Amino acid sequence: MNEALDVKEVWGRILSYVRKFVSEQTYNTWFVPITPIAVNGETIYLQVPNRFFYEWVDSHFREVLNRAMAEVLGRVLKLNFTIVLDEGSQEDVFPEQPVQIKSPLSDGTASSGYFENISQINEYYTFDNFVEGSSNQFAKAASIAVANSPGNNSFNPLVIYGGTGLGKTHLLQAIGNEVLKNGRARRVVYISSDAFTLDFITAVQQNKVNEFSQHYRNVDILLLDDIQFFQNKEQTQEQFFHIFNDLYRHRKQIVLTSDRQPSELNGLHDRMLSRFQSGLVVDIQPPDLETRIAILQKKAEEDGLDISFEVIEFIATNIKSNVRELEGALIRLLAYSSLLRVDINLELTQRVLREILGSKPGGSISIEQIQNLVCSAYKLTLDSLIGKSRTKEVAEARMVAMYLTREYTDLSLKTIGLYYGGRDHSTVVHAIKWVENNIKNDSNFARRILSFRNRLESSL
Ligand code: ADP
Ligand code: MG
Repeated sequence: MNEALDVKEVWGRILSYVRKFVSEQTYNTWFVPITPIAVNGETIYLQVPNRFFYEWVDSHFREVLNRAMAEVLGRVLKLNFTIVLDEGSQEDVFPEQPVQIKSPLSDGTASSGYFENISQINEYYTFDNFVEGSSNQFAKAASIAVANSPGNNSFNPLVIYGGTGLGKTHLLQAIGNEVLKNGRARRVVYISSDAFTLDFITAVQQNKVNEFSQHYRNVDILLLDDIQFFQNKEQTQEQFFHIFNDLYRHRKQIVLTSDRQPSELNGLHDRMLSRFQSGLVVDIQPPDLETRIAILQKKAEEDGLDISFEVIEFIATNIKSNVRELEGALIRLLAYSSLLRVDINLELTQRVLREILGSKPGGSISIEQIQNLVCSAYKLTLDSLIGKSRTKEVAEARMVAMYLTREYTDLSLKTIGLYYGGRDHSTVVHAIKWVENNIKNDSNFARRILSFRNRLESSL
């Protein structure tokens, strides 16, 4: 059998196991960018974007990878990581075992290299499949303009803001895809602000802030998603501010998204906000009925579904708030129809929508929300919340935040530990027990937790 196929299959099986044990965020950040190269005897060769990435994966995920291999392959292969530096040359982390590498992006598109691999650009998101309507027209036009002449326009930075599920990430990714296709920028980086923050914290812990900032200062176009996550993260903001200024000075394109207007981003430095506002700020509004219908039609067509207009109109009329929910309704409808072996008709649609609309709240709570809430209640900065302090007040805040994170997100104990300053999972277990105990024994404390819960749930 072709070895290239073989390694893909082996890696695919390993990933499907890993996926069950790490959060989606972790999976996308640390596993998606890995390219499997070959499997040879007892070794699997994997290509990673840089040394920093390798060290992180090696120190945090070796265990789950070994477990995955034992489980799905029945044996544990040796992991051999390779780092791509430039087209044609590579650095082997274990130099005694060189392997031949072909960069995944060396097929005549943008030149290959170091950064594209980590950029996590999903090919699915393009301008072509972004349905235009009056709610998003301007944002789309500005994004296209930026993709056509990155850095060379008066839209630097471009800031796209709007509610959740309205297509911000889609547009950001579409810019990345377009630029990789038209070759107007070479080093394209897409990263969410929480991944950026997490990377930065790790860089600090590992004394690699210089490498970290160098990495970002070398990009041609930086696509940074969800900058609201920078709120109250002093050090990360500071670092980003310098990177931003450097890129800006060198006429490199910066595109940012936010879930609200920059002027409403509390907890971000004024000097940063004024930089954000110096370019072009565009908003995306919830789509009107016609656009919702057009989006559903497009999705149905992409998935090869034959759905009547009546059904599409019914969904579009009832689900108004965001596009992600529209998609979700379609997917659920599809699942029902195949499970029950019935056609998608109006009756089935009504039933499915009743379930969706009746099962509110449909939103989710993020770790950032929890951390922000706890930080503001205890009057702490994020840095101290996840830092080393053991004073009673900080320790309590930290344990409460860990407890709420466990309750409201589906992150594993291990990942929660990672988000709280790289603590280990037994610390998280201890925190949860401590909070549970205190709830039982201290009614003031119990009321405090209840008020946190109310505030989080009211945001849904
Ligand atoms: P946001 O980042 O604003 O929360 P996303 O970009 O993740 O939202 O969009 C949510 C989903 O809706 C994605 O699957 C995206 O492809 C889809 N979507 C949003 N707007 C449109 C649109 N105008 N046309 C097609 N798909 C869209
Ligand atoms: Mg998004």
